[in-house]
Amino acid sequence: MLVFKFGGASVKDAEGIINLVKVVKKFEGNQLLIVISAMGKTTNALEKLTRAYINGDDDVHAVFEEIKKYHFGIITQLFEPSNPVFDEVANTFVEIDWIIEDEPHDSYDFTYDQIVSIGELVSTRIVSAYLNKEGLKSQWLDVRGYIHTDNTYREGIVQWDKTRAAINRDIPGFLQKGIVVTQGFLGGTSENFTTTLGREGSDYTASIFAACLGAESVTTWKDVPGILNADPKFFEDTVKFDELSYSEAIEMTYYGASVIHPKTIKPLQNAHIPLLVKPFTDPGAPGTVIKDEVINKFLKPVIILKQNQVLMSVSAKDYSFISENHLSTIFGLFAQNQVKVNMMQTSALSFTVCFDFYEERFKKLLLGLSAGFNVKYNESLSLITVRHHTKASLNELTAGKTILLEQQSRNTVQFVVK
Ligand code: ASP
Ligand code: MG
Repeated sequence: MLVFKFGGASVKDAEGIINLVKVVKKFEGNQLLIVISAMGKTTNALEKLTRAYINGDDDVHAVFEEIKKYHFGIITQLFEPSNPVFDEVANTFVEIDWIIEDEPHDSYDFTYDQIVSIGELVSTRIVSAYLNKEGLKSQWLDVRGYIHTDNTYREGIVQWDKTRAAINRDIPGFLQKGIVVTQGFLGGTSENFTTTLGREGSDYTASIFAACLGAESVTTWKDVPGILNADPKFFEDTVKFDELSYSEAIEMTYYGASVIHPKTIKPLQNAHIPLLVKPFTDPGAPGTVIKDEVINKFLKPVIILKQNQVLMSVSAKDYSFISENHLSTIFGLFAQNQVKVNMMQTSALSFTVCFDFYEERFKKLLLGLSAGFNVKYNESLSLITVRHHTKASLNELTAGKTILLEQQSRNTVQFVVK
């Protein structure tokens, strides 16, 4: 059986969904499970809605109306008015009405997951209905009964035994009856609340299903020809890799390559399932294959840019040396506030660390650290990671930039720049 994942960009409009059906038709005869993300930029819009609701802003309803208008605009182009999909989508959106009528729950992350998850619940309704309309028998599956997580909202930790048991109990039977269409990015807790797996987590969802079911392969359909050595939005003369090893792909995603969610590769590597990254506009193209045995000749260095970084330096209030005890307190606060370290360095008197800026988490972290330490920080920085670098590539990348922190190992160089 095959697992396909279509990201937001591939289902951002009616043409995208029509194209998705074309791609799926090429694979008729295979057992197929399809994982879908929220359409276009819906997740960002739902994040905005969540923020507005929690802050008590007036534009909550306006933001919500925009989101609904966008989805109904698309389904009006795809279906006759009598199609049940109109009611299914409306009923799914009602969940948000219920939430925003009430006072916000104490936990931001909990509320976030209950609202933001609606994006995938709606997109899968639409895609599943359209496959059926086009004669491809499909079944909509609520993933929250299959991917079981703990209750770490916004970063649900998958409970593999429970997940595997649920998937293997039902999905093979469902696949015999037709295509299974399900939500990326979502999970469910034992109390039946919705969790999300971290932004861009739909790839991970595809990988979980593939690993549990022993799929032949996973294909993620993208708006790029495959995995490139750098993001073409920021860099010129990019090249595509035909093949990558699992370990190189893990390194790339670890440093922030956004083409695949970082947690995706490991389950596939363990089960020796290849991951294909292919362009949805050209399903016959080879794309990039990520697999076990690859001879990598890195003709061009891999460049990974992470924006919106904070560089923080932490020192003891009594100006004593940074000790293991200090570090243990500092890391404790990072873990507690779910702030992941991208790069770090210790000197005699200070600990310097670079991480992604998430406002809520940052505020809490700062509050915690300020109780025991002197803290200084810079915002709006970029972290550039270069793998398989050449001298020339480093010179080119850093020309004209102020380097605030630099680190080099055999295969990897990192810079924090302004
Ligand atoms: N819709 C979610 C996001 O945009 C998950 C995904 O696209 O993979 O983060
Ligand atoms: Mg997305």
